[in-house]
Amino acid sequence: MKKVVQLRPKDSAKAHENEGGAPPDGKREKAPRAVVVLGATGSIGRSTADVIKGADGVFTVAAVAGGRDAQALARIARELGAPFAALADPAGYQDLKIALAGSGVEAAAGPQAVVEAALREADIVVGAISGAAGVAPTYAALKAGRTVALANKECLVCAGPAFMKQAQASGTRLLPVDSEHNAVFQAMGEADLDAVEMITLTASGGPFRGWSAERIAAATPEQALAHPNWSMGPKITIDCASLMNKGLEVIEAHYIFGVEPERLDVLVHPQSVVHGLVAFADGSVSAGLAAPDMKVPIAHCLAFPARLRTQARRLDLAAVGQLTFERPDFARFPALRVALDALRAGRGLPTVLNAANEIAVEAFLNRRIAFNEIASLVEAACDAALGDGVAREPETVAEALDIDRAVRERVRSSLPGEAAAS
Ligand code: NAD
Ligand code: MG
Repeated sequence: MKKVVQLRPKDSAKAHENEGGAPPDGKREKAPRAVVVLGATGSIGRSTADVIKGADGVFTVAAVAGGRDAQALARIARELGAPFAALADPAGYQDLKIALAGSGVEAAAGPQAVVEAALREADIVVGAISGAAGVAPTYAALKAGRTVALANKECLVCAGPAFMKQAQASGTRLLPVDSEHNAVFQAMGEADLDAVEMITLTASGGPFRGWSAERIAAATPEQALAHPNWSMGPKITIDCASLMNKGLEVIEAHYIFGVEPERLDVLVHPQSVVHGLVAFADGSVSAGLAAPDMKVPIAHCLAFPARLRTQARRLDLAAVGQLTFERPDFARFPALRVALDALRAGRGLPTVLNAANEIAVEAFLNRRIAFNEIASLVEAACDAALGDGVAREPETVAEALDIDRAVRERVRSSLPGEAAAS
């Protein structure tokens, strides 16, 4: 597998030297850092808003974008004092306009408006859209030279090679908001990648950790949506229950850190306190710890390389008491194996996997397929794409989105109640 761009704190810190930093306590020496929030009405978007408001003048918000909820987007635009609000759903334009009447916030709607939000003048763009819907606007921000704080892991799973190439070409940074990658990024320190033996991402194990395969197979959306440690959007919550999320994250780590699959590992750690570990060639291991609160990695990325003082949850190890670790069980959680196989196989299979999984998760949430069919549908889509040449390494975002579209169509047409694919 090809090596891509390596992201390490020292490179990024250097690249930030001439930018307006965001020092702790709001003691600003320079202009506030301008932020765009893509996916502002979601779980990460709202946590980002909390961090921004709590930092008291350290940040300004240049634009916000959301999917379909015009009222929620208008509320967050007013709350953050954003001059521009973009809704992806064109049908919501009038609602958004009405909800923003008298606020002075400019309203726009449609996919192009979201790209326009991504391109508003800013120092940092938070990529917090869910799914491959985030690829085009997030990529536009990267291409325009913005620092991107990336929560939207599907961008890298769908179009990792193009994202990393573009980051390198435009001299921009992708800062990892995903808690495990953020922990690894911090734990990596000044080390050379050659000195890294293993990067380990932890998984909480989700709500079905102690369940039998039979019980998991028949799990309902309500059961799968009841995550023990994190409160997140529906798609990622289902991915956590199947452990597909950890598979997507290993793929994300492969691209963002430029590490081959053999040096990426997963451990189940139900307390969600140790988020990522880096084992070095001399036997040392550094770990990133924090309470399970996304405001921690969001604040780290927004202020990087400085540190903010936040109201995020504090870690109390004595109260946690015990930290436990176990190997993931691929038999009960086949989605993780399917994702790791896709990464090792390459040839665009991560793109296929991501698209198939989005359709499968949607179908499960709509009660059209059983929980255990998520992994089998995704695996079948990977096999089919290898068989007929749909799977190929996407060099550009356009190629990745072509594969994404073809796979979505095929998986949709294979769902129960749909006409068979021709
Ligand atoms: P969410 O469903 O709560 O929010 C998604 C946001 O994207 C919403 O604001 C929605 O309106 C918006 N959106 C959807 N389609 C859009 C489009 N086409 N254009 C613009 N906006 C659109 O999801 P979330 O839990 O906040 O997760 C967001 C991303 O962050 C996902 O990729 C997820 O995997 C990742 N992530 C989330 C967490 C978490 O704790 N929630 C942790 C790590 C990574
Ligand atoms: Mg994560």
